[in-house]
Amino acid sequence: MFPRPPLVLCCSGHDPTGGAGIHADIEAVAAQGAHALSLITANTVQDTSDVRRVVAVAPILIAAQIESLLADCLIGAIKIGLVGDPEQIPYLVKAIEQTGAPAVLDPVLQAGGGAALSNARTVAALQQQLFPHVTLLTPNAAEARRLAPGVRTLEECARTLLDRGCSNVLVTGGDEPGETVVNLWLAADGALQRYEWPRIAARFHGAGCTLAASIAARLACGDALAEAIEVGQRYTQAALGRALAVGAGRPIPGRQNPARVPARA
Ligand code: PLP
Repeated sequence: MFPRPPLVLCCSGHDPTGGAGIHADIEAVAAQGAHALSLITANTVQDTSDVRRVVAVAPILIAAQIESLLADCLIGAIKIGLVGDPEQIPYLVKAIEQTGAPAVLDPVLQAGGGAALSNARTVAALQQQLFPHVTLLTPNAAEARRLAPGVRTLEECARTLLDRGCSNVLVTGGDEPGETVVNLWLAADGALQRYEWPRIAARFHGAGCTLAASIAARLACGDALAEAIEVGQRYTQAALGRALAVGAGRPIPGRQNPARVPARA
C-alpha cells in the first residue's frame, strides 16, 4: 500500500557536530532515495576539529537492535563505520550473514584531527572477523597504510587487504597530497580502476562516511558495484563542493538538497 524504500542498515558512531558518523550516513542514504536504519555503535565527544572521547554502546544492546530490525525489515545493504567495541563484531557479522546484503566497511581508525578512534584490539578483530564478510572496504590512504604496513604503494596495500578476505577495496586519496584526488578500486578478480577528481582545497570532516554510506545506498537501490562506486564518488564530490561551516574547525559535506541550504547572513 505504501512505497517501500530500499533500506540501508547503518552501524556507526554518533558525532554531535553532524559532520561524520551516523548523521552523515542518514543524510547520504536519504539523498540517494533510500532509507537508513540507524544503529549507533558509540557516542563521542568531539567538535569540528577533533575527537576527544569515544564511549562504546553495550554490545548486547547492538545485538538486540539487530535482532529486532532483522525480524521486521528487509535490508538491502549494510554500512559499517566506527566499531566501538570488538565484542560488537560478531553481531555485525550475524547481520551480514542473515540478510545476505552487501556490506560496505569504512575502517575508521583515526579522526582527521588526529585522535585515535579504534584501539589495537578492535583493529585486529575487524581484520580477523569482519573483513572476510565485507563486499567493499573503503580505507583512506592513511588507514590503508596502517592496515597493510610494510608495502610500498597504495595499490600494494589494496592487494594485501584483499588477501585478508574482503571482496573489493576502494582506497581513497583525499588525505594524500596533490592537485587531484586519486581513488583506487581493486576488485576481487584483480582488476584495478583509477578515478581522479579535482581537489577542493580544504580538509573536510565526514567525507569518508559520506562516500561509504552513499555507495551502500546505491547498492541497496540495486546498482552494480561499479555503478555504486561511481555515483557515490560523484555525490561526495558534489557534497564537498557545497560544504558547510558549522564550527571553527573543518567544514562538513553539504549532503542535503542544495536548493534548501539558505545562505547565512
Ligand atoms: N566521529 C565518528 C563517529 C566517525 O565515524 C568519524 C569518521 O568516520 C569521525 C568522527 C572522524 O571523521 P573525520 O576523520 O572525517 O574527521
